[in-house]
Amino acid sequence: MINDLYGSMVFDDKTMRKYLKEETFLELKKCCENDIPLSIETANEIADSMKNWALEKGVTHFTHWFQPMTGITAEKHDSFIAPAKDGGVIMEFSGKELIKGEPDASSFPNGGLRATFEARGYTAWDPTSYAFIKDGILCIPTAFCSYNGAALDKKTPLLRSMEAINKHTVRLLHLLGRDTKKVSAMVGPEQEYFLVDTSVFEKRKDLFYTGRTLFGARPPKGQELDDHYFGAIKPRVAAYMKELDEELWKLGILAKTKHNEAAPAQHEFAPIYTTVNVSCDQNQLTMEIMKKVAAKHNMTCLLHEKPFAGVNGSGKHNNWSLSTDDGYNLFEPGKNPQENAQFLLLLAGVIAAVDKHQDLLRFSVAYAGNDLRLGGNEAPPAIMSMYLGDELTGILQAIADGRTYSNRAKCEVAIGVHVLPKFAMDSADRNRTSPFAFTGNKFEFRMPGSAQSIAGVNVILNTIVADQFKEFADELENCKDINKGITDIISRVMKDHSKIIFNGNNYSQEWVREAEKRGLLNLPTTIDALVLFTEKKNVELMARQHIFSEEEMMSRKEIYIENYCKLINIEAMTMLDIATMDIIPAVIEYKKMVTETVISSKEVGVKADAEIKIANHLEDLIIKSEKAVDSLKTALNEAHSMGENLNSAHIYKDSVIAAMNGLRAICDEMELNTAKSYWPLPSYGDLLFSIH
Ligand code: ADP
Ligand code: MG
Repeated sequence: MINDLYGSMVFDDKTMRKYLKEETFLELKKCCENDIPLSIETANEIADSMKNWALEKGVTHFTHWFQPMTGITAEKHDSFIAPAKDGGVIMEFSGKELIKGEPDASSFPNGGLRATFEARGYTAWDPTSYAFIKDGILCIPTAFCSYNGAALDKKTPLLRSMEAINKHTVRLLHLLGRDTKKVSAMVGPEQEYFLVDTSVFEKRKDLFYTGRTLFGARPPKGQELDDHYFGAIKPRVAAYMKELDEELWKLGILAKTKHNEAAPAQHEFAPIYTTVNVSCDQNQLTMEIMKKVAAKHNMTCLLHEKPFAGVNGSGKHNNWSLSTDDGYNLFEPGKNPQENAQFLLLLAGVIAAVDKHQDLLRFSVAYAGNDLRLGGNEAPPAIMSMYLGDELTGILQAIADGRTYSNRAKCEVAIGVHVLPKFAMDSADRNRTSPFAFTGNKFEFRMPGSAQSIAGVNVILNTIVADQFKEFADELENCKDINKGITDIISRVMKDHSKIIFNGNNYSQEWVREAEKRGLLNLPTTIDALVLFTEKKNVELMARQHIFSEEEMMSRKEIYIENYCKLINIEAMTMLDIATMDIIPAVIEYKKMVTETVISSKEVGVKADAEIKIANHLEDLIIKSEKAVDSLKTALNEAHSMGENLNSAHIYKDSVIAAMNGLRAICDEMELNTAKSYWPLPSYGDLLFSIH
């Protein structure tokens, strides 16, 4: 049954072999492997077969599916239908239509890259990611560029970064005597999410407009018992997960794990890892389908990083590794001396890259939603560091010091001479607090937020590692004794960059102090990270690796800043709306009931001291809430007067968020002092335990 379902909606290799001529299929594969363009004849044949396959599935429309800077996907549907000479219609789909599209895309964010007169931009087919059918539409994964070739989307730089990491890793491997033809970055993203019952969700305007709760007092029971983590899955959720799996299987996305997460109502989904651009497309699709399937089960899937204050937020762990064309994982510690030398050299490259570019990694996960999560007691802090485990750190340090590494297995470590001592990396002693952990044969970057596209994160990862490998390759090319060259490099990396290695508890306050002593960057907010993106070091790096022009970087920074301002503005406006139109009137109503009780009690000669106290307290709270509303309005007005730029972003970050927190605190206190029947919003308890 799974066999029939799996990939049934994907124009994958299996389907292509069935629908394409052998030589056309091989031509396509060759072009993908060597990054060369297809001839129009081949494109025409592929388009025709794709159309025939889609028609058999009842499809009448196609779309170029792309990932503009909004972070979600976009599509514009066109039909296959064309007029026939005899007055009827025929179904047509040409190679030209497959390869290139021209969406009227003038309203996608472009950060000043695209003047209105050339507003159209174009989409270009990415043949390395399979076409698929979604909701009866043939979707063709594409990159989205302006007419002069500037990237307007998330896929273009990702593809560029894949070329960079391929080029420089292959260079290094050749120097080490391997004849690898191609190296790809592989990624498996673990996706966390919340499910709430839709009937409850619909009563929360804040969740509806912003994806997170802007008000809500703590429930009597939260996640303190840790009884949800890996606990039994409720039948409604199990039914959801089953259907989600099936929908994803159809699209060739294999769900590997599913379990409950730490917070009530929180769950996790992980697919089997694959090439990074495919993984990125699949994750975008997964997020979309998670929401759709949830709706069918009368549930709403929340992908926001921090839907509930005081409850764990959701992340998206980006598991990253490098694989050769023959399926060899380059971060698998070696079985022989030669492989060890290679492993340790590549590992040293990642260490140096992460240390040098802490700012870029932090930048890659910087946006308003994630600020609420990073540095909480659940997610890595906004300080980059790397976990290697004591044993691996010890080995690298021993090489750097020219010492004998002695531990459990007593043996000498010299590059290219001895087999590495076996180091166990089982999940039991895995450090779960590290933002960037080596987990045995891959790196797990834990800072990305759950709603985020993984494109940006992997652009940065691929690029910084590619650049470091380039430096190593340049050096080793001019080196007579390769083993000595590698040892020198590792020694240098450990001397200059071992400060980035931290195997302890990243959630502790001591680490924040220790990191400061080590001179590591601590960038708590999005704005701190965004401004560093266009520093000289980064502009040069991106130019050197052909990822972004300076203009593209400026435009991206501008888009992110604008996005930050917009998001906080929507949240603040939603808060004002709910506070003034729902919460404060409800408390006034409740106070009225209490004061009327006072009057009627007195009429019959009953004391009402407690009620008077309650009514006075409510009045105090109402006065305070009015003041908090005014403060938020004042802060917002100041931000609005400046437009959406770095100056206003600072006002949002400092004044608006502070005023939002002030208003929330007082409203949450009101909630705890108001009768449930008067309170206009479902409580945290109602939301977190809405699914039985
Ligand atoms: P965890 O213990 O962190 O949950 P899992 O083994 O479940 O780890 O894997 C989490 C994710 O990492 C999955 O998506 C998996 O496919 C992916 N993954 C496993 N090996 C690799 C690898 N070599 N490169 C990239 N991703 C990988
Ligand atoms: Mg994990």
